[in-house]
Amino acid sequence: MQISEHFTMNEFCASDTAKRLRIVNLPDKEAAESLVYLVRNLLEPLRLAYGKPLYVNSGYRCPPLNKAVGGVPSSQHLKGEAADISCDDPAVLLSRLQETGLMFDQAILYPTFLHLSLRRDNNRQKIIIKKR
Ligand SMILES: [Zn+2]
Repeated sequence: MQISEHFTMNEFCASDTAKRLRIVNLPDKEAAESLVYLVRNLLEPLRLAYGKPLYVNSGYRCPPLNKAVGGVPSSQHLKGEAADISCDDPAVLLSRLQETGLMFDQAILYPTFLHLSLRRDNNRQKIIIKKR
Protein backbone atom coordinates (compact mmCIF):
# COMPACT_ATOMS: atom_id res chain seq x y z
CA MET A 1 0.00 0.00 0.00
CA GLN A 2 1.32 3.40 -1.06
CA ILE A 3 0.89 5.89 1.82
CA SER A 4 2.35 8.95 0.15
CA GLU A 5 4.48 9.80 -2.88
CA HIS A 6 7.67 8.46 -1.29
CA PHE A 7 6.53 5.93 1.32
CA THR A 8 4.78 2.55 1.33
CA MET A 9 3.30 0.68 4.29
CA ASN A 10 5.61 -2.23 3.58
CA GLU A 11 8.71 -0.12 4.34
CA PHE A 12 7.42 0.40 7.89
CA CYS A 13 6.81 -3.30 8.54
CA ALA A 14 9.83 -4.89 6.88
CA SER A 15 12.43 -6.14 9.37
CA ASP A 16 15.41 -8.43 8.92
CA THR A 17 15.17 -9.42 12.58
CA ALA A 18 11.48 -10.33 12.23
CA LYS A 19 12.28 -12.38 9.13
CA ARG A 20 15.13 -14.20 10.86
CA LEU A 21 13.05 -14.96 13.96
CA ARG A 22 9.90 -15.68 11.91
CA ILE A 23 7.95 -12.96 13.65
CA VAL A 24 4.92 -11.74 11.70
CA ASN A 25 5.27 -7.97 12.07
CA LEU A 26 1.93 -6.55 10.98
CA PRO A 27 0.26 -3.51 12.58
CA ASP A 28 -3.33 -3.65 13.82
CA LYS A 29 -5.80 -1.09 12.47
CA GLU A 30 -4.93 1.54 15.07
CA ALA A 31 -1.16 1.25 14.55
CA ALA A 32 -1.61 1.28 10.77
CA GLU A 33 -3.64 4.49 11.03
CA SER A 34 -0.94 6.03 13.20
CA LEU A 35 1.71 5.12 10.60
CA VAL A 36 -0.34 6.79 7.88
CA TYR A 37 -0.70 9.87 10.10
CA LEU A 38 3.07 9.90 10.79
CA VAL A 39 3.91 9.67 7.10
CA ARG A 40 1.41 12.19 5.77
CA ASN A 41 1.95 14.82 8.46
CA LEU A 42 5.67 14.49 9.16
CA LEU A 43 7.76 12.14 7.02
CA GLU A 44 6.50 13.05 3.54
CA PRO A 45 6.60 16.84 4.16
CA LEU A 46 10.09 16.41 5.63
CA ARG A 47 11.15 14.28 2.64
CA LEU A 48 10.08 17.10 0.33
CA ALA A 49 11.96 19.70 2.42
CA TYR A 50 15.08 17.51 2.50
CA GLY A 51 14.94 16.80 -1.23
CA LYS A 52 16.85 13.51 -1.04
CA PRO A 53 15.96 9.87 -0.29
CA LEU A 54 14.97 8.84 3.23
CA TYR A 55 15.22 5.20 4.27
CA VAL A 56 13.13 3.52 6.96
CA ASN A 57 15.47 1.46 9.19
CA SER A 58 12.68 0.54 11.61
CA GLY A 59 9.04 1.58 11.65
CA TYR A 60 6.30 -0.45 13.28
CA ARG A 61 7.35 -3.13 15.80
CA CYS A 62 4.94 -5.73 17.17
CA PRO A 63 5.67 -6.61 20.85
CA PRO A 64 7.84 -9.71 20.08
CA LEU A 65 9.91 -7.76 17.56
CA ASN A 66 10.31 -4.77 19.89
CA LYS A 67 11.58 -7.14 22.55
CA ALA A 68 13.92 -8.88 20.09
CA VAL A 69 15.58 -5.60 19.06
CA GLY A 70 15.88 -4.40 22.65
CA GLY A 71 13.29 -1.65 22.39
CA VAL A 72 11.90 -0.14 25.60
CA PRO A 73 8.39 -1.40 26.55
CA SER A 74 6.98 2.12 26.11
CA SER A 75 8.47 2.48 22.61
CA GLN A 76 6.41 4.57 20.21
CA HIS A 77 7.41 2.04 17.52
CA LEU A 78 4.84 -0.32 19.13
CA LYS A 79 2.05 2.14 18.39
CA GLY A 80 3.07 3.01 14.83
CA GLU A 81 3.96 6.50 16.02
CA ALA A 82 7.71 6.35 15.31
CA ALA A 83 10.24 5.55 12.62
CA ASP A 84 14.04 5.45 12.50
CA ILE A 85 15.10 7.26 9.35
CA SER A 86 18.51 7.10 7.73
CA CYS A 87 19.74 9.35 4.93
CA ASP A 88 23.05 10.79 3.73
CA ASP A 89 23.26 13.18 6.71
CA PRO A 90 20.85 12.71 9.66
CA ALA A 91 22.14 15.90 11.36
CA VAL A 92 21.15 17.96 8.31
CA LEU A 93 17.78 16.19 8.28
CA LEU A 94 17.25 17.35 11.88
CA SER A 95 18.16 20.93 10.86
CA ARG A 96 15.60 20.77 8.04
CA LEU A 97 13.00 19.53 10.49
CA GLN A 98 13.62 22.53 12.74
CA GLU A 99 13.49 24.95 9.78
CA THR A 100 10.18 23.57 8.50
CA GLY A 101 8.37 24.06 11.79
CA LEU A 102 6.62 20.70 11.29
CA MET A 103 4.90 19.20 14.32
CA PHE A 104 6.67 16.23 15.90
CA ASP A 105 6.75 14.51 19.27
CA GLN A 106 10.37 13.43 19.60
CA ALA A 107 13.40 13.70 17.32
CA ILE A 108 16.35 11.68 18.58
CA LEU A 109 19.55 12.11 16.60
CA TYR A 110 21.86 9.08 16.53
CA PRO A 111 25.11 8.99 14.53
CA THR A 112 23.56 7.06 11.64
CA PHE A 113 19.82 7.78 11.83
CA LEU A 114 17.12 10.07 13.16
CA HIS A 115 14.28 8.65 15.29
CA LEU A 116 11.10 10.63 14.59
CA SER A 117 7.74 10.32 16.26
CA LEU A 118 4.37 12.01 15.99
CA ARG A 119 1.25 11.67 18.12
CA ARG A 120 -2.30 12.78 17.35
CA ASP A 121 -2.03 15.43 20.07
CA ASN A 122 0.17 16.60 22.92
CA ASN A 123 3.27 16.59 20.74
CA ARG A 124 6.33 17.63 22.73
CA GLN A 125 8.64 18.97 19.96
CA LYS A 126 11.46 17.36 21.96
CA ILE A 127 14.97 17.05 20.51
CA ILE A 128 17.55 14.67 21.97
CA ILE A 129 21.11 14.25 20.67
CA LYS A 130 22.74 10.84 21.26
CA LYS A 131 26.48 10.80 20.68
CA ARG A 132 26.49 7.04 20.22
ZN1 LIG B 1 13.28 4.68 17.05
